[in-house]
Amino acid sequence: MNKAAGTRFMQEMLTSGVFEGSEMFGAIEAGGTKFVCGVGTGPGDIVSTQIPTTSPGETLARTIAWLAQHSLRAVGIGSFGPVDLRSGFITSTPKSAWKNCDLAGAIGRGLGVPVRFDTDVNAAVLGEARWGAARGVSNCLYLTIGTGIGGGAIVRGSVLHGLTHPEMGHIRVPHDWADDPFPGCCPYHGDCLEGLASGPAIAARWGARGEDLAPDHPAWALEAKYLAYGIANFVCTLSPERILVGGGVMRQAQLYGRINAEVERLLGGYVGKIPPVTPAQLGERAGLLGALALAMDA
Ligand code: ZN
Repeated sequence: MNKAAGTRFMQEMLTSGVFEGSEMFGAIEAGGTKFVCGVGTGPGDIVSTQIPTTSPGETLARTIAWLAQHSLRAVGIGSFGPVDLRSGFITSTPKSAWKNCDLAGAIGRGLGVPVRFDTDVNAAVLGEARWGAARGVSNCLYLTIGTGIGGGAIVRGSVLHGLTHPEMGHIRVPHDWADDPFPGCCPYHGDCLEGLASGPAIAARWGARGEDLAPDHPAWALEAKYLAYGIANFVCTLSPERILVGGGVMRQAQLYGRINAEVERLLGGYVGKIPPVTPAQLGERAGLLGALALAMDA
């Protein structure tokens, strides 16, 4: 069966009631530009669709309508944020229409099923731990470096939560103003890690998007230095056995060797063998599969 026929077959199965009362779960990767929604029993049979992120009323109605076609045991949501994990609300997002949106509550009420809610990066690290590059270890770190910088960690087999959720992109890193006069672009902190090393920071500093800069452009040595500062701090505090990365900036293959060498140099042999920074195995599917894993744990 080719891919299109396979998808058609799955859709017919899904609407035919064959899976009624079975182990079907729903997954939502709630992003700032689109909601990726999926249903399935695992990574091998997940069927998904994309719904644009417009107003909460419209996007949530379409999300609920799509998921409601299937009989689901639970739904997992990995969301953009910041979020309040206790209430299930999106809180102080710069996307003003979504500020203080009761995302988990709306989905739970709309579908009448249990909902498990976490951040997008926590969902991604959970997906990698269950089905990706972090299988077989109890401690791992996932970082996304793109429009923003975010991180999720699994410590002793559990996704790390605390006062709220980790905000690894907003740690402070050394900023040599003589070497790099760019002030940083984080609206809250200026030159935090995200302010200095996100995709928009690269574009604002150099006047060109990262994908348009040559692999030997000085941008990449600076980028590797900032990311290595962050990763060295996470190695010292979280002691991850795997360090996985994703996001648009990490499509730059020349960054990996530079970052790994710089982390080694910064730590000076003190920590012992440091796992190399490697691409997340589930790639663009990490968030959706992580949300599916959340649903299975609900
Ligand atoms: Zn910041």
